[in-house]
Amino acid sequence: MRVPVIAGNWKMYKTAGEAAAFAKAFLPLVAGVREVEIVLAPPFPSIAAVADLVRRSGVFVASQNVHFADEGAYTGEVSPRMVKDAGASHCIIGHSERRQYFAETDDSANRKVRAALAAGLTPIFCLGETLAERKAGKTFDVVERQIRGGLKDIPGPDGPKVVVAYEPVWAIGTGVTATPEQAQEVHAFLRGLLKERFGSAAAAVRILYGGSVKPDNIATLMAKEDIDGALVGGASLAADSFARIVKFK
Ligand code: PEP
Repeated sequence: MRVPVIAGNWKMYKTAGEAAAFAKAFLPLVAGVREVEIVLAPPFPSIAAVADLVRRSGVFVASQNVHFADEGAYTGEVSPRMVKDAGASHCIIGHSERRQYFAETDDSANRKVRAALAAGLTPIFCLGETLAERKAGKTFDVVERQIRGGLKDIPGPDGPKVVVAYEPVWAIGTGVTATPEQAQEVHAFLRGLLKERFGSAAAAVRILYGGSVKPDNIATLMAKEDIDGALVGGASLAADSFARIVKFK
């Protein structure tokens, strides 16, 4: 039985004060939710404030990126140990915006996934094809390359500790959601690759869908066998809409 993960990626939105106001409004709305792993991913400066507010609520906090080193002369970067110390338990890695604007590659994402696991963080490893790749019939080749690269050298027992997020780039922030069938097709393909990689433990890996998830489309996505949650951008910025997504049942 896979516990669904609903994660909100705030991207570069909200000051620490705004993040705290969100947490205060959001917690009462999801107080009764037990069977969902709820994750909030604020920008780095708000992690500690949000983590303090959600402590003992069952809501988790993620960073939106990490560096792969523990510490060092890497100006502007933040290590997994620092993120964990600030109160995060999860970290998003390899988001398409990092790939597009900040030169993230399968290789750098893989180093980050391994560093996150070593620090005891749950990586939410993102992958997904562009519109041009989908139109060219390359979706499966692209996501296969990304998952093989991103999870390279992850030891078998660590497999189920990784959360995978399938986020077709054409669906992120566009208002165009993959149909539940399109998403399920890729998720099932990814599950097959995870089985090759991790054997029966692949059944425990949560595979999230991301791309214009909203309160009115989450339930049909979640009804699919291999869709184990969602990574939500825009609709996670308001407490009421994100709470409605969390309470999709
Ligand atoms: C995201 O940022 O990961 C995302 C899926 O964004 P949106 O929900 O806004 O498409």
